[in-house]
Formats: sequence, C-alpha cells, structure tokens
Amino acid sequence: SIGYFNGAFYPIEQIVIPIDERGHQFGDGVYEVIRIYEDAFFMLDEHIQRLFKSAKAIKLKINHSENEMKELIKEVVAKSALSNCDVYIQITRGIAPRNHLFPDAPVSVSMTVKPSKVINDSIRQKGKTAIFHEDERWANCHIKSLNLLPNILAKQAAFEAGCYEAILVKDGFVTEGTSSNVYMITDKTITTTPLSKHILAGITRIAVKEVATELGFQFVEKSFTPDELLEADEVFITSTTNEIMPIVSIDGKSIRNSDSKEQTLTVFKQFMKRVKVLQTS
Ligand code: PMP
Repeated sequence: SIGYFNGAFYPIEQIVIPIDERGHQFGDGVYEVIRIYEDAFFMLDEHIQRLFKSAKAIKLKINHSENEMKELIKEVVAKSALSNCDVYIQITRGIAPRNHLFPDAPVSVSMTVKPSKVINDSIRQKGKTAIFHEDERWANCHIKSLNLLPNILAKQAAFEAGCYEAILVKDGFVTEGTSSNVYMITDKTITTTPLSKHILAGITRIAVKEVATELGFQFVEKSFTPDELLEADEVFITSTTNEIMPIVSIDGKSIRNSDSKEQTLTVFKQFMKRVKVLQTS
C-alpha cells in the first residue's frame, strides 16, 4: 500500500512522521476517509467540503484549494494502483517545537491508501450488536478532528462486551456511534439524530437520506432516546467503511425485526445501486 507525506510518496511502512509534528503532539488536525469503488470515488466533493469545513473550524489554513486537494488525493490513489480502496487523509498544523500556540509552519498533509475491507453479504445479513455508552466527547463533534480518545474508549468497551459498536448517549438522547451515524425504522419512517455540533454530519447519511426518499420512506431528523431505539422495528448504522449495517441487538436486547432486517437491507441495496451507477457514469 502507498502513502504520502508532505510532498513525497512512500510505501506505507516507510513513512515516518517527525516527533515535533502537531498531530503527534496534540492531535492538532483533522481527517477524512473516502472510499473508492472500482476506481470511482464515492461522494468525493462532499468529503472534500467536509474536510475544509473541519479545517476552518479549528482555524487550520490548508495551503491547497479544494480542487488542488482533490487532484492530490486522486494522484495518491492512482499511485497505489488499487481499484477498491480507502484513502485516509490527515491534515495537521505542521511541524514545530512543542508549544500550545499555533506555529508559523506549513500544514502537514499525510495520506494512506489501503484495500477496502469488503463486508460480505452473509455478515451484513447477520447484522451487528451494540451497546449503549455515555457520550463523553467534547462540544464540537461536527468537526472531524484527530482527537478520538472517547470514541476509542467506547468502541473498546463495546468490543469487551462482545459487541461491534457503541451507541453514544448524551443527556438521555442518542447522538451517534463511535464512528457511525445511527438510525431507526418504524412504520416506513426512518429517524436519525438531527445535525448539530453533537454529531458528525456523515457523508453516508446524505446518501441514506436521498435513498430513503427514493424508496418512499419518510426521513425524519429528530432526537430519540435509547428506549425509543429499542422499540424500533429496525436499527442500523452507517459510515463510509460499514456502508449500511443492521444492528440486531443493543445491550443484549433484540430489535423487533432483527431476523429479517428487511427494510434496512432494502435501503442498503438501493444505496449500492448508487455505487454501481458510478461505474457507468
Ligand atoms: N460519526 C462519527 C463519529 C464518525 O467517525 C463517522 C465516520 N467517519 C461517521 C459518523 C460516519 O461518517 P461517514 O458516513 O462520512 O463515514
């Protein structure tokens, strides 16, 4: 697999980041993960826009235009020669002796390209389990920042409970997963947490909103409690790497239609049609 750091391309295992790099010192940066299906980027413009929004929100000035960044990302992915892959992009406040104040240094741009971990049909048919976990994160979760310690701790807690994802709860309401958005389906209505500073505006969420409407679902952006989620017909999570994944139980309690997952899988199939359309356009 190939990687990129500040102007040069390397095999991933050879990339070394200077110890005085702000990402290493402070997690002082932002990132994106974009999936490529059969050489076609999925929702590249939306990911680039979010990257620049995140950067702006932490007062980080990217010394590339959005178009230049897009071209750079395409160049790195082309160099990888991978057709089905995920590109991870990280931008930090650069390399400077450790000091909390912003340095007078060019930003660092790093990327890695790795083969996509394809989730096969049988795994998706089976679905995944989750736990509820307190949302211990900060006040600006709309920024895709490098500071993921509460996300990591909650994900690890899920793993140690034998589960896949932790569904985060803040002030009695579900916010999102540690690295996913959360949805419930009841009576042909798909409900998800409204966008705010408490959640990341998922790119997959944009696609799900459109796909849901195409399929005749009502799409409602409204907060809900863990109890409401447990009473839904179906529950699912979305992210770039999971796409659309059914959740069959939370804290050991089964979701009503967790055997069939029919509606969630319908949404997934419609979502994958968009990926196929990419191939022909
Ligand atoms: N919320 C959080 C906290 C995430 O880390 C992610 C994954 N990037 C998502 C939601 C889903 O976002 P996307 O669909 O853009 O991958």
